[in-house]
Amino acid sequence: MKKVAVLTSGGDSQGMNSAIRAVVRTGIAKGFEMIGVKRGFKGLMENDFITLGTQDVSDILYRGGTFLQSARSEEFKTEAGQNKAINNLKEQGIDSLVVIGGDGSYRGAQALTKRGINTYGLPGTIDNDIPLTDYTIGFDTTLNVVTDAISNLRDTMSSHERVSVIEVMGRSCGDIALQAGISSGVDAVLIPEHDWNIEEISNQLTSGFQRGKTHSIVMVAEGAGKAEEVARLIKEHSKLDTRPTVLGHIQRGGTPTAFDRLFTSRMGHKVIQLIEEDITGVALGMEKNEITYHTFDEIFNAENVVDEQLYQIFQDLV
Ligand code: ATP
Repeated sequence: MKKVAVLTSGGDSQGMNSAIRAVVRTGIAKGFEMIGVKRGFKGLMENDFITLGTQDVSDILYRGGTFLQSARSEEFKTEAGQNKAINNLKEQGIDSLVVIGGDGSYRGAQALTKRGINTYGLPGTIDNDIPLTDYTIGFDTTLNVVTDAISNLRDTMSSHERVSVIEVMGRSCGDIALQAGISSGVDAVLIPEHDWNIEEISNQLTSGFQRGKTHSIVMVAEGAGKAEEVARLIKEHSKLDTRPTVLGHIQRGGTPTAFDRLFTSRMGHKVIQLIEEDITGVALGMEKNEITYHTFDEIFNAENVVDEQLYQIFQDLV
């Protein structure tokens, strides 16, 4: 009988709970013993393990966050930290470890793989910044949260004839800004993958107001600029009443969408199949609606690029 552990690491994202549930329930269906590790790699080093049965993961499918909790750990980046984790896994007789997290967590998973631990990754981050998967866990829910927030802002911006500059998450990846921008019909999107010109944006906003618009929205990915600074520059160039809004951590909350629940259920199911087949050292994702997997090396050698077709669509629809 296999003994499989699961943990969540790095920034949380909506759908992590659903992923844990799918891993645990599929594992139990195959007759595996399932273990939860609390607080990510920190808990792995501190032996913070709990046995998970079917009932332990009920009532979590629709909840944001992660009931196993998450943490960041500098110590785990060191050999000594990893030794502690590996010893604990061996002492507990754990055969396989499923790591649900973002890019940094995948580095940790890759390190364990290189040291002989059967490790698996599920892309748990709202940023959609992991290569070789079309989506990451929580990205779709975040798009919906941002889209709802923008419609609330529109109401008040219209009453006061203002420009709203909205900063969303995405340090190196503009997917949240671009895709929520298209879904919300905003006037400009600033993303780290493309240069932007404040004069052009200001002129475009001014001519919009001259044509009779009552408000405008500019979306900024955090990696492309700070809302406050962009708002100040637009005000300076256009004289329009411009206000910054930083959406912040509300983007990481909320009940996961049906898409995120289904996506994570499919990946959780698949990872247990891979464990059964002794395929190890891989991270899962979805490409063209198929659940696929690649080695950690393949993922780190691939480049995460913005979808230029979507960028073109945005520009044509403005
Ligand atoms: P998010 O995308 O939400 O920030 P993340 O998984 O990228 O999530 P990080 O804080 O970068 O979040 O990484 C989570 C944890 O993974 C770190 O706290 C650390 O314990 C581990 N980790 C990160 N980089 C490495 C590395 N190079 N080697 C070993 N472990 C690492």
